[in-house]
Amino acid sequence: MRKKLAVANWKMNKTRTETQQFCQELRQALEQLHGTEVVICPPYTYLDLIAEQMGNTSVSWGGQNCFWEEQGAYTGEISPLMLRDLGCRYVIIGHSERRQVLGETDAVINRKMAAAFQAGLIPIICVGETLQERENNLAREVVKEQLVQDLHNLVPASHGLVIAYEPVWAIGTGVNASCDDAQQMIAFIREQLTNLYGEDRAASTPILYGGSVRPDNITEFMAEKDIDGALIGGASLDVNSFITIARSIANV
Ligand code: PEP
Repeated sequence: MRKKLAVANWKMNKTRTETQQFCQELRQALEQLHGTEVVICPPYTYLDLIAEQMGNTSVSWGGQNCFWEEQGAYTGEISPLMLRDLGCRYVIIGHSERRQVLGETDAVINRKMAAAFQAGLIPIICVGETLQERENNLAREVVKEQLVQDLHNLVPASHGLVIAYEPVWAIGTGVNASCDDAQQMIAFIREQLTNLYGEDRAASTPILYGGSVRPDNITEFMAEKDIDGALIGGASLDVNSFITIARSIANV
């Protein structure tokens, strides 16, 4: 049985006070969230606060990115070891905003994945096609190529790997993929994992859907057999929305 995940990606949002408030309210709701692993990925500057507030609970936390070296002259970067030092269990790698706004290539993402595994973090690798690629019938080809290149020469550590299918056109737009399209792509991703790592690993790897997930559409996604949870951006900023989504994931 695969684990289910509700992952909050706060991006570059919230203050320290708002983070504290969020944690307080989340702590009170944890009893309702037993069936899912809740992961918070705040800006780096609040990781210590999340660790302090959620440290003795079932909640995990992670970075939204990391560099590929352990240390050195890389101004402005953060290493996987530093994330570990802050108690992170996860790190998001290859988010489409980093690919598109910050120019991250698959070769860069591959190095980051290697470094994350090396440090003992569980990477949540994001893959997904643009609208133009989908309209040109290239979605599967693009996602396959991302997986092959991003995972090139890497054998996921036994502690794991999480994949998030996030069609770029659905991120932050309010236009989510249809459940059927998401299921089909996620089943396709599982096939690619079978080709890369064999059936057992493919069957045990959680694959999430991300892209305009909200309290009113999560249940339909979770009814699909290959969807193991969600990576949630905008709707994770509001603690009540996030709790509702996580509760729906937990109760499937
Ligand atoms: C994301 O940033 O990974 C995301 C899915 O954002 P949103 O939920 O706002 O579409």
